[in-house]
Amino acid sequence: MSELESLIIEQSREGRTAVSLPQCDVPEAALNSLLPSEYLRTQEPELPEVSEVDAVRHFTRLSTYNHGVDTGFYPLGSCTMKYNPKVNEMLARLPGFTMMHPYQPEELTQGSLQLMYELQNDLAQIAGMDAFTLQPAAGAHGEMTGILIVRAYHAHRKDTKRTKVIVPDSAHGTNPATAAMAGFEIVQVPSNERGGVDIEALRKVANEEIAALMLTNPNTLGLFDENILEIAEIVHSVGGLVYYDGANANAIMGLARPGDMGFDAVHINLHKTFSTPHGGGGPGAGPVGVKEFLKPFLPKPIVIKKEDGSYSLDYDRPLSIGRVRAFVANFAVLVRAYSYIRALGGDGLKEAARNAVLNANFLMSILKEHFYLPFDRVCMHEFIITPKDLKPYGIHTLDIAKRLLDYGYHPPTIYFPLIVEEAMMIEPTETENLETLEKFANSLIRIAEEGKTDPEKVKNAPYDTLVTRLDETSAARHPDLRWHKG
Ligand SMILES: *Cc1c(COP(=O)(O)O)cnc(C)c1O
Repeated sequence: MSELESLIIEQSREGRTAVSLPQCDVPEAALNSLLPSEYLRTQEPELPEVSEVDAVRHFTRLSTYNHGVDTGFYPLGSCTMKYNPKVNEMLARLPGFTMMHPYQPEELTQGSLQLMYELQNDLAQIAGMDAFTLQPAAGAHGEMTGILIVRAYHAHRKDTKRTKVIVPDSAHGTNPATAAMAGFEIVQVPSNERGGVDIEALRKVANEEIAALMLTNPNTLGLFDENILEIAEIVHSVGGLVYYDGANANAIMGLARPGDMGFDAVHINLHKTFSTPHGGGGPGAGPVGVKEFLKPFLPKPIVIKKEDGSYSLDYDRPLSIGRVRAFVANFAVLVRAYSYIRALGGDGLKEAARNAVLNANFLMSILKEHFYLPFDRVCMHEFIITPKDLKPYGIHTLDIAKRLLDYGYHPPTIYFPLIVEEAMMIEPTETENLETLEKFANSLIRIAEEGKTDPEKVKNAPYDTLVTRLDETSAARHPDLRWHKG
């Protein structure tokens, strides 16, 4: 760290300030009587006292320490780090939306309700479902909502022997976690040599104890399961439901619909496919769609259009699983998704999906000459390669990911899915141009060469970042996020 990079609290000088506020016109006695005494400060807070320019420089500098989609290529598989058009940010910031209060009466929120109603319908059309809730705040939250709906459906039919949920071994970790949290036992099914669900293994575990199968298609290997209709049929034939983890809809939007593949319920990550910038933990949205027969179990309220043409929140839903969050949704995320969908239209969504698939296949076709490609078939939005040839040089996927930082790229997702040893999961997205893809491929190829000619260089990377190799486990398990005096 240079001298300029001291912590903001260390730059503090008594009396220096960035604001000038008028005298508070509420008498102190009134303030004290309004707030319960346990909430009143007994000491001044220890805040940095800095000027406006100090604060601006500090936070602007911090922003440059992070790699974002606006600063460079970000091929983080399964996360769909596409560029999100800024016009959607402008719309989400319109005062009519941001100044709204959740307790405002319906007569005064008709525009927002209409937006939610139309988004519910747009998503239903895209997913091939009959109804949507916009409440869930993330993909994992959508899964939880979806599986609680499945549970409510079976319970309503007094079909109480269904205690198990089938999850393929390529699943995102949130799938088994969701099923376990909802009280189900997990039954894992293996993948076949083409990267899809092993049908014979599925047949063996499909029985009257199965509440649901949770499936991602295209799956986390970036592969479309060609047996999807048969898979759905096997689960339905024993009375189970089929749940679609639609976190990654970027390859299929407008082209293929979970509802047509036999799925009964689905969640969609608006923060991946539908234009909300993400990374660092949110906010996001994971709306859940269902087929007609599951509609009564959706969380309440949902937005309805009344006969007189006005919009309303419908709480009169006796079979609903209830609320899954406070208020209606992460509303600004919905605005972005709505404006993204309406700006692109059906043809635009299709083109985006086709380009996402094209970009992934283009990159894969270059890289497969230099890396090991465990499933050599046309991929969807992403693909998996591994540095198998570099094993004799002691080079692991982690080393390549770290070296990529020196080349100015965010690394791909690594060591996931778990079923591929040393996996690198690359998702370029549709918003990258040909030159970016070629430059990235060339960088990876150069790193592979460095791995053979100068393995130590790769093993000790990165060199050009603010911090170099970290103890990532300790950083995650014992984060030290507070400033300690002295
Ligand atoms: C991202 C992702 C999830 C989880 O979504 P969150 O919004 O991070 O909770 C679930 N499944 C798959 C396949 C994903 O890629």
